[in-house]
Amino acid sequence: MIDVLFVIPNSAKKIYQNLANIYTAIEPPTWALLLASNIRKNNLSCEILDCDALRLTEEQSIEEINDSKCRLACFVLYGQQPNQGTFLMIGATRLAQQLKLHHPMIKIGFIGSHISALPMEVLSYNYIDFVFINEGVYSLNNLLKTDLKNNLHKVKGIGYKDEENNPILNSPSEVVLEKDINNELPGYAWDLLPKNKNILDLYRAHYWHTFFSEKNRTPFVAVYSSLGCKFGCNFCMINIVNRNSINSDAKASDFKLMRHWDPMFFVDQLEILANYGVKTIRLSDEMFFLNKKFYVPILKEIINRGLKFNLWAYARVDTVRNDQLELFKEAGVNWLCLGIEAGNQEVRRNIDKGRFEKVNIRDVTKSINDHGINILGNYIFGLPEDSMQRMNETLDLAMELNTEHANFYPCQALPGSPLYFEAKKKKWDLPNSFEEYAFFSYECKPLRTNYCTSKEVLQFRDEAWQKYFTNPNFLNMIEKKFGKESKNNITKLSNIKLNRQILENSNEY
Ligand code: SF4
Repeated sequence: MIDVLFVIPNSAKKIYQNLANIYTAIEPPTWALLLASNIRKNNLSCEILDCDALRLTEEQSIEEINDSKCRLACFVLYGQQPNQGTFLMIGATRLAQQLKLHHPMIKIGFIGSHISALPMEVLSYNYIDFVFINEGVYSLNNLLKTDLKNNLHKVKGIGYKDEENNPILNSPSEVVLEKDINNELPGYAWDLLPKNKNILDLYRAHYWHTFFSEKNRTPFVAVYSSLGCKFGCNFCMINIVNRNSINSDAKASDFKLMRHWDPMFFVDQLEILANYGVKTIRLSDEMFFLNKKFYVPILKEIINRGLKFNLWAYARVDTVRNDQLELFKEAGVNWLCLGIEAGNQEVRRNIDKGRFEKVNIRDVTKSINDHGINILGNYIFGLPEDSMQRMNETLDLAMELNTEHANFYPCQALPGSPLYFEAKKKKWDLPNSFEEYAFFSYECKPLRTNYCTSKEVLQFRDEAWQKYFTNPNFLNMIEKKFGKESKNNITKLSNIKLNRQILENSNEY
């Protein structure tokens, strides 16, 4: 018998439609790997069942969970970043429901960003025994020290049901502080991941990360050198996993917090990966290009140790420093992901990104490109102040910047984000299902804006995506930089159309 089985459900097809076959990434479950390292350090036992990487059906997943003889099946739901945790609820709720039906004795826990956002709602599902109010490192350990039945009121940071089946939320536990992070989260339990022949060979990078080519997509990992973010953008729910209050109005921006691993400790983790033969790595930090005190020693040490990676890291337009770009490139950072979000300053000001009003986005992107670093521009269509004209301004900016890759997201009021509470206050229609939240799903139903309907937003977003990725200027730039094969691969990708329910429907949304 093992103490805990970390389960990552398979929701890929529902979230990404046909993009899931080839084009989307399959990321190692970073948080399950961190939790596993903590569990083992505390002399408890665990395994990981990654149904997503194994592409298991519901029946196969249930069989594997039952065979594991775990005391607790703990579903870990963060997605490829915490903002996508809600989408993983699609596969998780179906699997957990069926698991309980077939094996009522198995205890089921849910941990992750959506659960931190709405713990009472998740606890109300009759097949879920435990929820974790925040990242759950200490709560999970303390829960496993009980028999999972008695003295549950003493375990901080969990929700559970009492003998009369009433849902109870205990007071929250602490999150791991920076001073304790090396010790409490001592790396990643890579050996617990499923594999085909070699470690990490079931995982693959985002298509663009390997320059729109299959080469070096596998093996692939995503790792953190820090957790959390010090900003509080109103569409973002990332910081909700830091929550230390059970107030039902608590939102992500109330829990702005960053915690860093010691830079040398982090580079040791990278060296382990290099020894496994991993070259393609995502630095998943919400904001890697922020604090010199941390990123400079990391990047210098990567160079000192002669580690050769193709790295991707996150920055904001206003955190990029010209004088550091050479160091980034030399250390193997070939991609910087920039949250540009909107072309119109009024729209940006409204989402707390006003801070970079004075920064010239064009100068920043040019400088990054001049250092040989590619850019992934993130844009959002359908922010509250977006009108058709303003969404066109965002698209115009994206086309003008012509970055090597661009994410076009339809805006969603994700549970836990300040925008979620704003939308509720305005009595705007919110999704009725997890499928409706997912950016690329058939059922996707974005938030309306002050000027546009959900349907208009989604239609604009999908057409904008087509326009960007079939633009001859973009395709020529890609061919020049990465070669003809990459250009042809993008053309094949743009032939895959997402089906959208609300666009097929004549109803107004
Ligand atoms: S900077 Fe990025 S991670 Fe931080 S709150 Fe804003 S969107 Fe979220």
